Amino acid sequence: MPERNRRSTPDTSSSISAAKGKDTPEPKNGVMSSTVKGEQHTPTLAELRHTAAHVLAYAVQDLFPEAKPTIGPAIENGFYYDFDRAEPFTPHDLERLETRMKEIIAADYPMLGMKVSRERAVDCFKDNPYKVEIASEIPPDEPITLYTIGEFTDLCRGGHATSTADIGAVKLMNVAGAYWRGDEHRPMLQRIYGTAWPTQAELDAYLVFLEEAAKRDHRKLGQELDLFSVEEEAGGGLVFWHPKGAVLREIVESFIREGLRERGYQPVNTPHIFAEKIFEISGHLENFAEGMYGPLEVEQLRFRLKPMNCPGHILIYKSHAHSYRELPIRYSEFGTVYRFERSGTLHGLNRVRGFTQDDAHLFCTPEQLQGEFEQTLDEALRLMRAFAFSDFEYFLSTREPHLRVETDSVAEDAIRAALEKFDLPYAVDEGGGAFYGPKLDVNLHDAIGRKWQLGTVQVDFMLPQRFDLKYRGADGADHRPVMIHRALAGSLERFFGVLIEHFAGNFPAWLAPIQVVIAPVSEHQIEYARQVEQTLRKQGFRVEVDESNEKLGYKIRHWKTQKVPYILVVGKNETAAGTVNVNERGSAESRPPLSVADFAKELRERIEEKR
Ligand SMILES: [Zn+2]
Ligand SMILES: [Zn+2]
Repeated sequence: MPERNRRSTPDTSSSISAAKGKDTPEPKNGVMSSTVKGEQHTPTLAELRHTAAHVLAYAVQDLFPEAKPTIGPAIENGFYYDFDRAEPFTPHDLERLETRMKEIIAADYPMLGMKVSRERAVDCFKDNPYKVEIASEIPPDEPITLYTIGEFTDLCRGGHATSTADIGAVKLMNVAGAYWRGDEHRPMLQRIYGTAWPTQAELDAYLVFLEEAAKRDHRKLGQELDLFSVEEEAGGGLVFWHPKGAVLREIVESFIREGLRERGYQPVNTPHIFAEKIFEISGHLENFAEGMYGPLEVEQLRFRLKPMNCPGHILIYKSHAHSYRELPIRYSEFGTVYRFERSGTLHGLNRVRGFTQDDAHLFCTPEQLQGEFEQTLDEALRLMRAFAFSDFEYFLSTREPHLRVETDSVAEDAIRAALEKFDLPYAVDEGGGAFYGPKLDVNLHDAIGRKWQLGTVQVDFMLPQRFDLKYRGADGADHRPVMIHRALAGSLERFFGVLIEHFAGNFPAWLAPIQVVIAPVSEHQIEYARQVEQTLRKQGFRVEVDESNEKLGYKIRHWKTQKVPYILVVGKNETAAGTVNVNERGSAESRPPLSVADFAKELRERIEEKR
């Protein structure tokens, strides 16, 4: 029997099987095992985790026979399985299930597959309307397969470990509600999440990682450090920046502006709503309608909240004629856009409905593309290094073959040449480009190794055509400019979510909303503390005095939880000598008192070095 093809992403228990799977060899006699006898099959992580989903469904069948299994795919870091059951699964139920799963794993059941007719599959699951629905929807040219471990058979398209014993370690994580097929008009199911690994050591390491990630959760830190909030009564996915968060944002925006100014960008500002017809011309209504909010009507004119800044910048370009001598023209804006996201998908700062991009649109000639890419890469590197990210990945995405036009290779060559000039290794994602042109994506890894996609630079031949953009060439004739869309931090909201988690809230001094807190030992030193505060403020530092009646120990503990880089303690001796006692974040070292001038010098150096 042929070994079934391994897929990098084995499917759910058959629900999406219609989409792919033509590569699966037909079994000759209808019975299959996951591997050829005697052949060692090392499952991929996804296969292992999807197998664990089967094991979970087996355990549920044994302990809660009334629950109806639906689908159970592998996901990033684990798997889930959705069940229809009236009574909620409790934490105690999960413990029992986990114990049963471990027995099933230890029993070393081989994963046995069998090809069946549609009638047989429907009959087999006649008490389970979900499986019947799945079986009925598998296209006639696709094989229908059942997979069995021990006493449990599931409808599934395959992509498994050879045996349950391949699962080295498993843990059930939590239960959440999920609609059948993500449709809020269909039944609400219970989704049990779990994780599975080849070894216990890998599971343990993953749990440590999760703990660390939870400590860094930007939603939790955002509240503790009073940076931002999402006010549910104002609607989900809309971010309110509190004073400290706004200070942080202002610092980052100034840093980005500085880089743009040096590189010849011109700031512009465009409205948040415009007439709907602009989005008709741009193609957004045609291609992006689901991400847009409905129209607002005023004086018989329909308006839309902008989902992207491009049309606004194009209108500025179009407002007068341009000569080739002016190109490249680079318009930049911290542009706030609004996009519809389902309420169930909203997540802190990562997934929101209104966000601000460090957006810019460049209008240039095809010959200028490479230079613009080099400049953009240079700026992207400056930005990411400033925020202490050091591990980047670059992806050049080309357009799908049927969309390719002649100019695509000009753009791709320009991107390649720029990457090679900076000696940056990159991967090519064939066909992964935007529908209007090739693009370059930059991914980065944060302090605990998580990968984030932030910046993107896209070449666009389409919008200049749709808006009939021109410049007068050296030959006296009109030519079409090429557009580059680029956002390097991407969504500032998301970028701040990443920053908060990357630094675990311990912002380096140049970013910290409060850089220094002065803590007088008693009320007698408040006056001196205020003088020090004034001296430092005059030099541009962000300083506060803790004038509360709390004991010194309490004050220090409090400001430590606020992750302030420096706490300056001033008592009788410091007041007399005109010094401060420096308590530095993350350092237990006791230092001799410093003069205010020396402390200011130290802080200035740290800020300049972006530490
Ligand atoms: Zn399966
Ligand atoms: Zn754009």
